[in-house]
Amino acid sequence: MPEKRVVITGGAGFIGSHLSSRLVTLGYRVVCIDNLITGSLNNVRGLLKNKKFVFMKQDVCNYIDLAGKVDYVLHCASLASPEDYLHFPIKTLKVGSLGTHNALGLAKEKKAVFMLFSTSEVYGDPLVHPQKESYWGNVNPVGIRGCYDESKRFAEALTMAYHRAHKLDVKIARIFNTYGPKMRPHDGRVVPNFISQALNNKPLTVYGTGKQTRSFCYISDLVEGLYRLMKSAVNAPVNLGNPAEFTVMQLAKMVLELTNSKSKIVFKPLPEDDPRQRQPDISRAKKLLKWLPKVPLEEGLKKTISSF
Ligand code: UDP
Repeated sequence: MPEKRVVITGGAGFIGSHLSSRLVTLGYRVVCIDNLITGSLNNVRGLLKNKKFVFMKQDVCNYIDLAGKVDYVLHCASLASPEDYLHFPIKTLKVGSLGTHNALGLAKEKKAVFMLFSTSEVYGDPLVHPQKESYWGNVNPVGIRGCYDESKRFAEALTMAYHRAHKLDVKIARIFNTYGPKMRPHDGRVVPNFISQALNNKPLTVYGTGKQTRSFCYISDLVEGLYRLMKSAVNAPVNLGNPAEFTVMQLAKMVLELTNSKSKIVFKPLPEDDPRQRQPDISRAKKLLKWLPKVPLEEGLKKTISSF
């Protein structure tokens, strides 16, 4: 079998770097494209010495010029933390629209399989719980989160248009809250925030009442799901996440316990349009990918804490 070559945009980010390592370990040749706005070379430091791994510093919003065959284009580049997309709303819209267009164009040119890294945010503040892929969502297009949600919804629409019009083999992963080592300590998302605060004896900042829920998936489980989806024959969107649902307050208490921290909990205003609940229905991933997350929150948090 000839070696498969994968292009991964955002390959130096949190999810992208974990998936790149996995692919290189499995024998794939990986071309990582990243503009390093939120990604970091530190995340791929160990891979840079490997002949199978090539790093290209490039913004995916610009035309991607790459010689040679490509078997897979994995479009992972994105500003994924609410804090980042609130600071860079236009960049967020561009990477989801122009960036996705360029990545799809590359896949079409190379006759490669294309995978979009989409998000549970396509469901917005969901009125259906848990969320199945058939749910169309409840998104405020003109609110502060609209730049992220709508860019990913547009990216999904463009991906399906390429599938229908150009017969491109596409995959859409709808990724729910994921955490683990290599997240930036000051990323702004709840898990790295709470862990950094607890380890530095700073108060844990709970937004709103802390009764809002999220379902947290450990990175190794997500990477397994992404890999299975990439290799599958499935073209419809697939939820990837851990269905175990927790309130933000439960998470704060668990982090305090696992870090033995004396930090207090303080309440801060709930950001505008913050979804009140979120839990993936993963029946499709179970059935079609035979995938199930295995790492319980407590175990994943312990590993993340020790890496921080
Ligand atoms: N959150 C919080 N404190 C923080 C950061 C986040 O209470 O320091 C809350 C946030 O309001 C949301 C949940 O934690 O309800 C998850 O936020 P995150 O930014 O991790 O991701 P989201 O799921 O909102 O995209």
